Amino acid sequence: MLQNTKSNCIEDLLIKGKRILVSKNVSSHALDAALLLAEASGFSREKLITHNDYELSEVQRRHYFELLERRCRGESIAYILGRKEFFGLNFTVTPAVLTPRPDTEILVEAVLSILRSGPVLSDCAALRNVSFPVLDLCTGCGPVAIALKHKCPALEVWATDVSEEALAVARKNAETLDCGIAFLQGDLFDALEKRSRFFLIAANAPYVPSGEIDLLSPEVKAEPRIALDGGVDGLDLIRRIIVKAPLYLDKNGYIALEADPSQMETIAILMKDSGFSEPVMYQDLAGYNRVIAGKLS
Ligand code: GLN
Repeated sequence: MLQNTKSNCIEDLLIKGKRILVSKNVSSHALDAALLLAEASGFSREKLITHNDYELSEVQRRHYFELLERRCRGESIAYILGRKEFFGLNFTVTPAVLTPRPDTEILVEAVLSILRSGPVLSDCAALRNVSFPVLDLCTGCGPVAIALKHKCPALEVWATDVSEEALAVARKNAETLDCGIAFLQGDLFDALEKRSRFFLIAANAPYVPSGEIDLLSPEVKAEPRIALDGGVDGLDLIRRIIVKAPLYLDKNGYIALEADPSQMETIAILMKDSGFSEPVMYQDLAGYNRVIAGKLS
């Protein structure tokens, strides 16, 4: 029995939304109902809590139920809202790009810690002054490149992607977030001039083994296959990146790659074979190795 009988009041709508999502086995039902109601009403999530007896208009109510229906059909919250938060920044996302993941924040953290320990730096404040050229491969909607540029405004950031559609989203994000980045279209290093040299190359390349794509959740399967599929063992792109990276790195430059924890040992061997010294691994929030970095030596 609903406590509040007013059918368009926030509390009532949240309860109804949660029930609908639960009935379709959406696991994050409470959060998702709140996010969709915030979107439909134009209220912040905080205001939904403090104004829970507030009546919404019929238009807002209808919009809310339309959004709930899309979520029930398996669309991700990020695609429905058209945005996703990453590293405290708001990114526009479309079905042309992979939705930025919390895992990829570890890649940004890893790069920042490399920059911090680099040749001229010792403290965080100095991060603002680092001006090395860095390259983000497979940039997608630009989360890694943009988060780095945001954190280190003096950094010279280059980013490439094979998908022109993804780059259009990345350029828009960089503009909105006021980050000057050189975006180039092309297959990995093909986008660059042969004489380009970087202090560091980062990449969240596709790394899901082809045979595992079908096992992914409907939300992930709705993302561009090209951004996920890494070939038979998931390492097609990563292998190509590691082999070519030394040609585009300064002497003593760095590489930092996101991948699946199960792929780390193989990647460590590939890195050593390509001339990178003892690779360092960085853990995700669940404690698994999610990023691996090496220094050319
Ligand atoms: N981490 C992503 C996933 O969970 C994969 C991202 C990638 O392939 N780069 O599906």
